[in-house]
Amino acid sequence: MKQIAIYGKGGIGKSTIASNLSAALNEMGQTVMQVGCDPKRDSTRILAGGRFIPAVLEEHREKLRVGKDEYAIDLDRIVYRSPGGIYLVEAGGPEPGVGCAGRGVLTALQILKDLDAFETYGIDVAIYDVLGDVVCGGFSMPIREGFAREIYLVCSGGFMSIYAANNIARAVQRLGLRGDTGLAGIVCNSNGDEALERAVIPAFAQRLGTAFVQFVPRSPVIQAGEMEGRAVVEYAPDSREAEIFRNLARAILANDTRVIPTPIAELAELETMYREHLVKK
Ligand code: SF4
Repeated sequence: MKQIAIYGKGGIGKSTIASNLSAALNEMGQTVMQVGCDPKRDSTRILAGGRFIPAVLEEHREKLRVGKDEYAIDLDRIVYRSPGGIYLVEAGGPEPGVGCAGRGVLTALQILKDLDAFETYGIDVAIYDVLGDVVCGGFSMPIREGFAREIYLVCSGGFMSIYAANNIARAVQRLGLRGDTGLAGIVCNSNGDEALERAVIPAFAQRLGTAFVQFVPRSPVIQAGEMEGRAVVEYAPDSREAEIFRNLARAILANDTRVIPTPIAELAELETMYREHLVKK
């Protein structure tokens, strides 16, 4: 089973990338499970037809409330099958104001593993969509505990998204030295400033020692699909955007390279790199 994690700054479009990637892989005949690892539990909404699905931690809390343990959880209550046939899970979060969200995500992933969810559904590719603003111990749990092996960073041409991606690369560097997890590449989810993005993001990828995998343009077709609760390969299968996600899916399926990244240690160096491309574009 291929285990992929998509990390990036909040609001950068990780769920859009993850969902459209899941749908493209599904179209290619892969059995895919997308796991939302964000307490907002909105990763899988597009694939679930615009709905919020029940979260693992809610079900877990309910079982504890009635005096049962996680083994009493029925897999069919926490794994939802999308109309297109993709398996969807939302980890969920702790009660607001109580507990560690990252630890909650880990509990949810552990429950999936303990209940043999991946084997039961014959999953070929598991995609974890992980909140990446806070590179705390909590949110690096999916990497640290060996759930995610290949890390893909999503960023745009906005400086703060590159800053966040660099911070995540620092976490991957630290954790990758202890296991076989590594950085597999960077995906650009464009914010519209294509000239800058096509220059600065490949340069950033090279600086980290990883691949620039795919440029995803800002597109009304992708947004319209989202509004309809459908991935672009379903909503507009003949579009250029659908082909872009098929290319991304093919690249990720074919890739077996992951590196321990070489992130930029000093903020000043990151700023200089960014400024150089800003001036050149
Ligand atoms: S470790 Fe991270 S997820 Fe957990 S409480 Fe602290 S900031 Fe939140």
